[in-house]
Amino acid sequence: MTAESELLDRAQHTRLVVIGGGIGGLVAALQCAKVGIAVTVLEAADRPGGAIRAAEVAGLTVDAGAESYATRGGHVRALIDELGLTDAVVTPSAGRAWVHGLPGAAPLPAGGVLGIPANPWNDDVRRIIGWSGVWRAYLDRVRPPLTIGHERSLGKLVRSRMGAKVLDRLVAPVVAGVYSARPDDVDVEIAAPGLSTALTRTGSLSGAVSTLQGHRDLSKAPGAAVEGLDGGMSTLIDALVSRLRELGVEVRTGVRVDALARCESAWRLATTTTDADAPVEEELAADIVIVATDETAARALLAPEVPALADEQPAQPRIDVVTLVLDAAALDTAPRGTGVLAVPGTTQAKALTHSTAKWQWLAAQARSQHPHRHVVRVSFGAQGEAPATDGLSDDDVAALALAEASVLLGVALEPAQLVASHIERYAQSQPASVIGRRERMAAVREAVHRVPRVGVTGAWLAGTGLAQVVPDAIDEAEHVRRTALWAEQAQA
Ligand SMILES: Cc1cc2nc3c(=O)[nH]c(=O)nc-3n(C[C@H](O)[C@H](O)[C@H](O)COP(=O)(O)OP(=O)(O)OC[C@H]3O[C@@H](n4cnc5c(N)ncnc54)[C@H](O)[C@@H]3O)c2cc1C
Repeated sequence: MTAESELLDRAQHTRLVVIGGGIGGLVAALQCAKVGIAVTVLEAADRPGGAIRAAEVAGLTVDAGAESYATRGGHVRALIDELGLTDAVVTPSAGRAWVHGLPGAAPLPAGGVLGIPANPWNDDVRRIIGWSGVWRAYLDRVRPPLTIGHERSLGKLVRSRMGAKVLDRLVAPVVAGVYSARPDDVDVEIAAPGLSTALTRTGSLSGAVSTLQGHRDLSKAPGAAVEGLDGGMSTLIDALVSRLRELGVEVRTGVRVDALARCESAWRLATTTTDADAPVEEELAADIVIVATDETAARALLAPEVPALADEQPAQPRIDVVTLVLDAAALDTAPRGTGVLAVPGTTQAKALTHSTAKWQWLAAQARSQHPHRHVVRVSFGAQGEAPATDGLSDDDVAALALAEASVLLGVALEPAQLVASHIERYAQSQPASVIGRRERMAAVREAVHRVPRVGVTGAWLAGTGLAQVVPDAIDEAEHVRRTALWAEQAQA
């Protein structure tokens, strides 16, 4: 037997189980199946995809979770191309997002980094922060650069350099929208790589933003450039699952893994089918396991092998996304562009996306049903607080979302205009940009890697968003393959 055929034989006789069928788990499964490993994916929900999920609302298939991906890094696009979906790639409409709660509403200024303006004197900035805010922000240019460059907290940095109005009215809504976090908790270097260095060099925060814009480093900033898929992001999950099945991967849904135990060189998985009427318990065996669940489940599954993981009880605040299908001629002109970010504390909703203003493919489908049909997504909940929808019945959630949509869109929307609504609930981990989080997650990964034949991936470690999760899953699958197969082969 040649070395290559020996490796292939070894791979084919290796049973690898991926726990969790979100994008992270499916991508990890693909990487392993491509080299011939026998892979099974176990997903607790009744469909794969995790936070990428479609919903049927009034006959329209809409994204009820992730609706786009950041183009930075090129990893998601490479996956899309590999799966033959290149022709389905779409870009959102050019309209700007708005910010609400000034009081009133205004388009979010063009450019800027996480809402920090390069020039506070610009009309679109002044409209939001007023003359007093502009003069205060201008102090940033004239203050001596003594204390700059060393502030880790984004909120503290912006407040001290440009004042509370820039922080509260521009930066806070963007940071809440992108990270569901408060600016004070966000690490400047992670959220806006290069900003601190540019600040030290130029002597002012606005100068630093200009420098980043000039160097096109903005493409690295979250939300800078996104793409979507005609038909919605769930088509990526459908394509991934078909590819996995072609490669012989078994993707089992409705199977929750309750416990993971190492038994000599194999893993034992205690599972339960999640069919409420007839739950069935089953024990499965695997040579290698990749844990690709949310943070709470991952810590519980891995704690028997890595006890330190039980030390931290993660806060996974709930985010509720309410999709409204509306017949409203007043929305035809997209009065608030592609959507609205709320100044925290001014509304009960966190943000709104006018999906049919943002995505042409969805607008065409909606219009084919009714000339003034629109899809609007209203999201509730943020780090450290329960969503305003907490404890409400579905009807009351829909009524609240409609009322919030009226406020955010600046258009009176009546209950009679609501064709249908859909509620989707999510738990989200602390964002990777929160101060200290990256170091803690690196330590978690290191501890897990000390256990042989196990890998761990997912947004809780990689950071929220497909642009983070996809490359992390690829790297983790490669790590597991290398350490569990090739290294052991080398030792043999
Ligand atoms: C409302 C919303 C909108 C978003 N919008 C965007 C966007 O537009 N662009 C973007 O890039 N990102 C977006 N994100 C973030 C992005 O969707 C996530 O970061 C990413 O999908 C997470 O993938 P994952 O595989 O790590 O986790 P998940 O998608 O959470 O998958 C984990 C899976 O593990 C399963 N599981 C958990 N426990 C077990 C168990 N014990 N046994 C078996 N299975 C288990 C779960 O059911 C789930 O399917 C959004 C997120 C949300 C919530």
